[in-house]
Amino acid sequence: MYKMKKLKKLAIIGLAAVTVSGCSPNKNYKSYDDYPVRSGDLLEMIYTPQSTSFMLWSPIAEDVRVFIYKSGEGGSPETSVTLKKDEEGTWKGTLGEDWKGYFYAFNVKIEGAWLGETPGINARAVGVNGNRGAIIDINETNPDGWHNDKRPTLKSPADMIVYEMHHRDFSIHAASGIDNNGKYLALTEENTVIPNTTTATGIDHLTDLGITHVHLLPSFDYASIDERTLSENNYNWGYDPQNYNVPEGSYSIDPHNPASRITEFKKMVQALHAKGIGVILDVVYNHTFTLNNSPFERTVPGYFYRHNPDGTYADGSACGNETASERAMMRKYMIESVLYWIKEYHIDGFRFDLMGIHDIETMNQIRKAVNAIDPSIVIYGEGWSATAPQYPADSLAMKAHIQRMPGIAAFSDEFRDGLRGPFNDDKQGAFLAGNPGNEESIKFGLVGAIEHPQIDYSKVNYTDAPWATQPTQMISYVSCHDDMCLVDRLKSTIPNIRPDELIRLNKLAQTAVFTSQGIPFIYAGEEVMRDKKGVHNSYKSPDDINAIDWNRKIQNNDTYQFYKALIQLRKNHPAFRMGDADLIRKHLEFLPTLQDNIVAFHLKDHANGDLWKDIIVIFNANKMPIKQIVPAGQYTTVCNNGQINEKGNGFQYGKEAYVAPQSALILHN
Ligand code: CA
Repeated sequence: MYKMKKLKKLAIIGLAAVTVSGCSPNKNYKSYDDYPVRSGDLLEMIYTPQSTSFMLWSPIAEDVRVFIYKSGEGGSPETSVTLKKDEEGTWKGTLGEDWKGYFYAFNVKIEGAWLGETPGINARAVGVNGNRGAIIDINETNPDGWHNDKRPTLKSPADMIVYEMHHRDFSIHAASGIDNNGKYLALTEENTVIPNTTTATGIDHLTDLGITHVHLLPSFDYASIDERTLSENNYNWGYDPQNYNVPEGSYSIDPHNPASRITEFKKMVQALHAKGIGVILDVVYNHTFTLNNSPFERTVPGYFYRHNPDGTYADGSACGNETASERAMMRKYMIESVLYWIKEYHIDGFRFDLMGIHDIETMNQIRKAVNAIDPSIVIYGEGWSATAPQYPADSLAMKAHIQRMPGIAAFSDEFRDGLRGPFNDDKQGAFLAGNPGNEESIKFGLVGAIEHPQIDYSKVNYTDAPWATQPTQMISYVSCHDDMCLVDRLKSTIPNIRPDELIRLNKLAQTAVFTSQGIPFIYAGEEVMRDKKGVHNSYKSPDDINAIDWNRKIQNNDTYQFYKALIQLRKNHPAFRMGDADLIRKHLEFLPTLQDNIVAFHLKDHANGDLWKDIIVIFNANKMPIKQIVPAGQYTTVCNNGQINEKGNGFQYGKEAYVAPQSALILHN
């Protein structure tokens, strides 16, 4: 998934020619590790009506100026401030009087050359396209009632139902019936419906579906969309960071007004919180959009990035560069940034893009700093990189090292690809396509990547050992924004798939996800059977590929109701979300199967205090009905042949259960 995405993203980064300037530390220091470290915060602009103070960390600078402008782009400076060298590598200066509403840019001189204007590395408000910082009073950006806004309670990450969405995908289609379509404010609109129907869209759709968290694709300021020409309807996922601590402008009503995006973002969080839904940010600290012109490189060249042995910039992201989380000020920067989003925007969790580029120590320090505020704030990430990072492999925050990162989770590609097939071949199916040999990978995902005595790890995809200590360290999913969405993937791997098979397998796939002991995660729109017209990498595809057509919710109401019932089933039954490895080993027992393409398990003895004594779950990926031997008993069926009814939709007696083709059967007594 990552490789395809990142490599194609190179195209948009093509103008960032890699040069070797900044590839070696400044002549005054033996190594980057010798650069002085700032002990205080990295706040670069502090506004009061009496004066505005500036600070920049740049230990190798010879001169630092701040230029003040009337607008976020163009024009000549109104005035400038020459900063004075201060302690710990910082430069400081103050501008008297009230400059609210103006914009600023730093310029740093090193070895006789000015590096060019930059908003700094820590701008918290910016002008259009994020090229200049903005002098604002951040307290004035709070919406009414913001001080009463609270993070929804989360007892265990096992209780989460994560919904991964892109602002534009979710609300840009006319059938969304949303006024602020494609914007942060879309998620604040209540009672939106598909025009001329009573079918809910928007935030009401989310509450009806029953998800607990939205996971937003990059929503910090990214570079690839020109915020001045939003009427051109350009699209991008946003994995091209520009300013890490400012919301992206293209999702705001007025990207020229620095306060607008901040207030609207907060209103979105507030509206979701009011519905009990948490907000998870996709954070991309592992690389920057450009190298030469990045705020990092125009502040302290070389310092924030890793290098190859020959001195050139390393590229573990396959996007032209890789940041150096292990360096004191980059680590500090990441920790401060995460805490800032929590404190200023009340964020509930973080998904780290290419987390495997970061070092373990940094991730653990982030977890520790977050715990001091609220241990229920979740952290998970992609436990891989695009190419090998320039850092010792055993110290990287890879999936295989999750056991050394308590409280941090990683996506399970074992489970995902065991269900749908490998990331590097869209045409190759797996369990869902009826291909045998994926059963152990499914079992691995069902227990949440932990040690379980009944799993043969030698037969699991991509790993030969459990990698999680706790099941809450594994994200359980079959599809996300990367690669084909589920409908496209099923069509691609099963030639001539019948419409009824598509529905059956969609339901079967998510039944595995939602009965997994990991953290269940779905890609927005799967519940209405969205497609992306077969596009594997839609990172900049137009709306007609990426937009969710909400008419599908009407067309696929049966599938939608199934997802909804499945989510309720998980919520109502603690057996499906034990959240504890020992409990899983005690209560989850796999049942022997009589043929390929079947996985069956038994949740026994009121697992995790469940009211149901025994729960039997059987997945049949075969095109024929199958027989499964179960412990003898009188069972009520609650999921059978693509229908869920928690009160029961049938009975099974004795020790043989019959499972319809390409479907899941769930029984209890
Ligand atoms: Ca932007």
